[in-house]
Amino acid sequence: MIYFDNSATTQPFTEVADAMRTFMIEDFYNPSSLYAPSVAVKRSIQRVREQVAKDLHVQKDEVYFTSCGTESNVTAILGVMQRTHGKGHLVTGLAEHASIWETSNRLAQQGCAVDSLATDTNGCVRPEDLERVMRPNTTMVCLMQVNNETGAVNDIETLCQIAKRIAPQCVFLCDGVQAFPKYAMPSGVDLYSFSGHKFHAPRGVGVLMARKHVKLPALLTGGGQEDGMRSGTENAPAIIGLGIALQRYLQNHDVYIRRMQEVKDTLWEGLQEIPGVHRNGGADGAPHILSVSFANVQAETLLHALEEQQIYVGTGSACSSHKRGGNRILKAMGVSPQFAPGTIRFSFSCMNTKEEAEQVAHEVQRLVPRIRRFTKR
Ligand code: PLP
Repeated sequence: MIYFDNSATTQPFTEVADAMRTFMIEDFYNPSSLYAPSVAVKRSIQRVREQVAKDLHVQKDEVYFTSCGTESNVTAILGVMQRTHGKGHLVTGLAEHASIWETSNRLAQQGCAVDSLATDTNGCVRPEDLERVMRPNTTMVCLMQVNNETGAVNDIETLCQIAKRIAPQCVFLCDGVQAFPKYAMPSGVDLYSFSGHKFHAPRGVGVLMARKHVKLPALLTGGGQEDGMRSGTENAPAIIGLGIALQRYLQNHDVYIRRMQEVKDTLWEGLQEIPGVHRNGGADGAPHILSVSFANVQAETLLHALEEQQIYVGTGSACSSHKRGGNRILKAMGVSPQFAPGTIRFSFSCMNTKEEAEQVAHEVQRLVPRIRRFTKR
């Protein structure tokens, strides 16, 4: 089996699963209870919070654990925008993840002014486009660091500087779900989200970093966990798992990045030999995502043909793969209708190898002409 769908989710590291098992079977206590074993679980959670804060260069009381990247994004965007009672101005991107896109649509329906920026042909937001739509009283800017479908990398630090120059009071949310910890949190952002299952921690845990000057109301109210920001009994095993995965990732960061880049380059080298192939996201994209469009191929047909060889890939993002209406992100970057339907996302992790990339390239070279022949009939 070859798993090239790591932007959908990653396999947890073995030591992550081992530690989680301990926190499920032995140290299963509710972190809010008052006896010693519970207090110990609470302390373990706090240690992970301190570790995350150190990695992000923020204070520990600026780190909140959530259930996923979606929750972090929605808590942030609704928390800031709902204060304006439908009168605020939100700037976001046409290529943002559904958690931002759908929420900004909801806000627009409630009366908020929403500007959604298209991208350049490489999938990046153009600084001049942001400059054009910003207003002195813009409430919030939400832009992603790495695009989940194309791997395009936005220059968030520059975008954030532009936003703050024109609207010093605006709150900048950066969606770092596909970026962190491959990339560091960009400096200057007020809110930052990421998700454990994208870097070999389990599903069920995300982080929202909120700088202290941003007064966010709680989305989930109740028992007052996470300093009142996010009620609900903490998912201690998953939080512990996130801490372990993050530590291992950062210790091996450069090796992992080089490995993924090698896998990506090897695969692209092989795929380029196929006629009628187009790479989305440009050559400077993130090391773990390769989005490729094949003319005269239906992506799903190729995906399932690869599946028969036990090769697992994606078509766009896993969360939007059941949605109809064409690919919003490819449209935003101007991919032609001849290519867009044949788009496959190959996404890698530190667990992949160059040999796997060679094997996948070989299979795609074999399958694409067959599918084209079949399509023409
Ligand atoms: N933002 C981006 C860029 C993503 O790629 C994803 C998931 O793929 C999310 C947000 C949502 O994260 P989660 O699956 O943890 O809810």
